[in-house]
Amino acid sequence: MDRKLNIPVADVLQEAGNFIEESICIKMSGEARDFFAEGDQIDSCEDLKFLRPIIGQIKFVSTNNDIIGYFKIESEIEQICSRCGIDFPLKNLLSFNQVFTFDNSEENLQINKNKTINIFPVVIQEIILAIPIKPLCKKCKE
Ligand SMILES: [Zn+2]
Repeated sequence: MDRKLNIPVADVLQEAGNFIEESICIKMSGEARDFFAEGDQIDSCEDLKFLRPIIGQIKFVSTNNDIIGYFKIESEIEQICSRCGIDFPLKNLLSFNQVFTFDNSEENLQINKNKTINIFPVVIQEIILAIPIKPLCKKCKE
């Protein structure tokens, strides 16, 4: 199944300094692990259970042949507390930058030939990186 949330960047690429800003909202379907991004269903997602849609702001700025993406992402996933074992909602506010190029060795950081950028893998990767090794619920944190 597709894991795509392609943002068109043809206009941005025309001139250095050009930019676009987009709001994103990646919604879940009824099943906890099914996702919809721009109408595409995304099945299973690294075993993460999202409690609400991933929302955020993205700004793409053209340098010369590259694009810098500025991301602000908000997510809420279910985690199991490493101390007491209960499920709890883990909220994350992420702010990160990422450079995209046409011939990047990392597939996730490539500008596609049709001049789009698929932001989905990058967003999911950052959410995963932000999960603590030993997550603690609110009660155990005190
Ligand atoms: Zn706990």
